[in-house]
Amino acid sequence: MKKQLYITTAIPYVNAKPHIGNALDYLLADIWARYQREKNPNINVRFQVGTDEHGNKIEQKAKELGLDAKTYTDQTYVNFKYLMDLMQTTYTDFIRTSDEHHVRAVQYIWQKLSPYIYKAKYSGWYCVGCERFYTDLEATEHNGICPDHQRPFERVEDENYFFKLSSFGPKIIEAIESGKMKILPDYRKTEILNLLKDGLTDISISRSVEKLKWGIPVPNDPTQVMYVWLDALSNYITVIGYPDRPEYADFWPADVQVIGKDILRFHAAIWPAMLMGLDLPLPKTLLVHGHVHVNNVKMSKSLGNVVDPVELIKEYGLDAFRYFFSRHIPTQDDGDFTYEKFETLYNNELCNDLGNLVHRVASMILRYQAGVIGDVKKIGAKDLSIYHQAMKNLEFNKAIEDAFNAVKNLNRYLDEVKPWKVAKELETNPDAKDHLSEILATSAKELLNISMQLKPFLPDTANKIEHLFKDGVVPEPLIPLFERKYIKTKDPRISHD
Ligand SMILES: [Zn+2]
Repeated sequence: MKKQLYITTAIPYVNAKPHIGNALDYLLADIWARYQREKNPNINVRFQVGTDEHGNKIEQKAKELGLDAKTYTDQTYVNFKYLMDLMQTTYTDFIRTSDEHHVRAVQYIWQKLSPYIYKAKYSGWYCVGCERFYTDLEATEHNGICPDHQRPFERVEDENYFFKLSSFGPKIIEAIESGKMKILPDYRKTEILNLLKDGLTDISISRSVEKLKWGIPVPNDPTQVMYVWLDALSNYITVIGYPDRPEYADFWPADVQVIGKDILRFHAAIWPAMLMGLDLPLPKTLLVHGHVHVNNVKMSKSLGNVVDPVELIKEYGLDAFRYFFSRHIPTQDDGDFTYEKFETLYNNELCNDLGNLVHRVASMILRYQAGVIGDVKKIGAKDLSIYHQAMKNLEFNKAIEDAFNAVKNLNRYLDEVKPWKVAKELETNPDAKDHLSEILATSAKELLNISMQLKPFLPDTANKIEHLFKDGVVPEPLIPLFERKYIKTKDPRISHD
């Protein structure tokens, strides 16, 4: 059995603020990493996160602020680290593409890929103000005029290096179709296969140094700097030590690479081509998550409906955040967020269904049995196959739903057997004591099962539940798991009464 596992997340540009999409990457990877470690403590799970720090946009932003690019990224990469830490993600490796090891490793990668690299003329849309190229799509979107400088893009030619992406197409299609590189969900796989079957064109992978300075220098050609692809995508292998630290081979290929749907094309075409060119195996699975909309509208700065993950966590607590985004945003599809939904589900499902259940069972054990939990060893093991299968399929929302179905069932069980009624018969009915003890032991055992299922999702809550029931005696004082909150629904702007 493999003793090492590896999961990765996409690395965002540091010139923007961390958003919900980034948080979703970190959350999904963290759920998987925690689950694997819990399942097999002997396994070494490596979990990469990081920041993409080169390119025109960053160079430009730094210039506006009167900083050099490196100083600027030193100040901004911490915004992402802050979010990951606030989310208690259990990453093991943090990479910045400005790290010296990464820079040297990417130069090595360039040289190793040189049989697939050639120099040719590149022509594209260029803004002198931005000092950068825009893609055809971007140029069309802005009607041929730079949105920042209100001047028309110019058609400019540049001498660049190109990567022979076109020659890898058939091999990539074969790898995806045979399942060597799995793409989840299935309809994303179909989507990318159609794209690949249309044929791939070679891509420009460098810029002349007059057009871009803040990037990794192309080896042996001082006139050229690397463009984003080779630099950013390589992070997944350089962070674990490629090429000079042999332990990278224990972790590569990655078991899972978590990405958003907007970057699937790069990860399912350019990235496998690079790996094939390097004679490295392809990642086993690309897990493609969707976008989070707000009230069924795309989040955008201009609409002013951008949801800040940091703000949500500060208002409602981390587990409330992890709960909503793991259970109510489908792992493999788009999802919808509103403050009202978030708050209602928090109050109904976390405070009421789970929080009250735990409180109810623990306080009955304290009241009727002086805190002593009956014999839980007699209770048979529970079938958790639905849960484990969902985790295996990377459908985390279904796994946590299974835990909350158990919460619902236990609430129903208690309403049926009514232990508080049995307690009233303790003086008169000689069987009542054993019966009550059995009900409460069954409930405590079931809550231990639920806490185990919740560990990857709501680590703090799961630990609190486990702490209450694991030692045979319920410790005092009892503290509610969740406080009811009315923050946003109280807000007059969105109040409905
Ligand atoms: Zn411009």
